Amino acid sequence: MLPSVEQASPSDTPGRSFPQRARATGPVADGRAPVAVIGAGFSGTMATLQLLRSLPADQPVLLCERSAEFAAGVAYAAGDNEHLLNVRAANMSALPDNPSHFTDWLSRRMGASGGPSSGVYETEVGLFASRGLYGRYLRSILDDALRRTAGSAQLRLLPDHVVDVEPCCSAGNLDGLTLVCSGGQTIDVSGVVIAVGNLPAEEAGDDRICRNPWDAKAWRPLDPDRPVLIVGTGLTMVDLALGLRRRGFPGRIVAMSRGGLLATRHAPAAPWPTPALTQAEESSVARLTARLRREIAAASGQGVDWRGVIDSMRPVTARLWSGLPDQERRRFLRHLRRHWDVHRHRMAPPHADHIDRMRQDGSLQVMAGRIVAMDTRADGVSVTYRPRACASDPSPANRTLEVQRVIMASGVEQLSRTNDVLMQNLFDRGIVRTDTQGLGIEVDANLNALQADGTAARYVWALGPIVRGVLWECVAVPDIRVQASLLADGVAERVRQDLAHWSFAI
Ligand SMILES: Cc1cc2nc3c(=O)[nH]c(=O)nc-3n(C[C@H](O)[C@H](O)[C@H](O)COP(=O)(O)OP(=O)(O)OC[C@H]3O[C@@H](n4cnc5c(N)ncnc54)[C@H](O)[C@@H]3O)c2cc1C
Repeated sequence: MLPSVEQASPSDTPGRSFPQRARATGPVADGRAPVAVIGAGFSGTMATLQLLRSLPADQPVLLCERSAEFAAGVAYAAGDNEHLLNVRAANMSALPDNPSHFTDWLSRRMGASGGPSSGVYETEVGLFASRGLYGRYLRSILDDALRRTAGSAQLRLLPDHVVDVEPCCSAGNLDGLTLVCSGGQTIDVSGVVIAVGNLPAEEAGDDRICRNPWDAKAWRPLDPDRPVLIVGTGLTMVDLALGLRRRGFPGRIVAMSRGGLLATRHAPAAPWPTPALTQAEESSVARLTARLRREIAAASGQGVDWRGVIDSMRPVTARLWSGLPDQERRRFLRHLRRHWDVHRHRMAPPHADHIDRMRQDGSLQVMAGRIVAMDTRADGVSVTYRPRACASDPSPANRTLEVQRVIMASGVEQLSRTNDVLMQNLFDRGIVRTDTQGLGIEVDANLNALQADGTAARYVWALGPIVRGVLWECVAVPDIRVQASLLADGVAERVRQDLAHWSFAI
């Protein structure tokens, strides 16, 4: 359990209007207004850590989290030891300047030997740790930071749901920002870092359709004799299928996506040099794909696996994505994204083996098809789908699948459709705007959020999956840890510039 330097009770009634609230009644009551980080998953926790490194010691940082747990976020809150990370432990250091930080922590914790019961798996491609273990690693980093800064109380935790950020102006000039929490509590802050993660769809009361694959609802008891449909065939589906099995569901699981593409598995691959791309290749998805195919063929000729080539693109993916014209980005999202995702984000070998066994014994069926309609019935859902056309059946007729539960695991929602109250308020105020593809919020090269008018919001930054529309390759630990450090440098620079301006106390 993390010690909380400043405790405030989270309130549980989010809403969009806040009459009669008192100003500045937050837990931070002395000195300079803090920089607030909204969201304490991996992105927010790492941004906080890097801010503590970059900011002067008298500049407080307030880390706000609406759930019960700080540091782990959606991805690493999984408590059991068999839910594995899909990235090798060697690549999972939280600190960009200390690549062995996680493996050192693991060694200290485990001694030399690992094994399923300890949450560490040695495989032919390296060590994989469990997500629960990784969550504990992140909490230990935050604990250390709390201990280190206890004297100055530089780091403060706020367990509450931030529902709005109001600009504070005097004489027409922006003076700072005010956080509004769900119970109406307000806190003046000198900057805001948005680290709210993927913002999964909100659940309705209906047990038959789970819109948020991470909601506990997905695990509610099931009838062993009737199938479950998972919509999506990527890593989230893999997690769900294995999770259902682990929780004792013995029945049939159907996984469906338009292409029916299953995540590939990690396998040994020698490194391949990042290709030097031409300008023409950098501006066209078709030409980029053709180049990648040629690289894969060349690599294969030298005995290097395709995975080495895909991995070689990592250092340049964000730059390539930001440089692509809008219509090319749309083309990628429509035609290539799924192919890229299943090759880029791979299964840990123990998971891949388990999925193979489930497919062989028929308990997991992976299908390609488009869902046409879902009709809820008293005891389940009747799903009408159109199988993907193939040579033997070029225009397939609709078919029906009767299932007891549908779990949506098809990935990114359009942010413009979100019903997240904080996001809606930020959009309404024009403090942020969506990126051109509507996948997340738009930021500049320093991760400063762009306002509705396209100018940088001087005191608002963002990182993690919420900026995927701008950076694309920004959802995994190796990418987010670098963003966190870049962002902290930007905030620190702004603090230096604005010291006098920011000295208002609350
Ligand atoms: C299941 C899963 C497994 C993954 N496995 C790996 C892996 O093995 N390796 C890898 O590199 N990457 C992995 N990733 C990807 C990556 O690590 C995650 O995308 C990353 O952890 C995202 O962190 P985040 O902090 O941005 O988002 P989240 O983890 O979603 O955290 C956001 C936090 O913000 C809080 N929040 C949101 N809104 C508010 C608000 N208004 N007020 C207060 N709090 C708020 C939420 O409660 C949440 O705790 C995985 C992702 C998932 C989902």
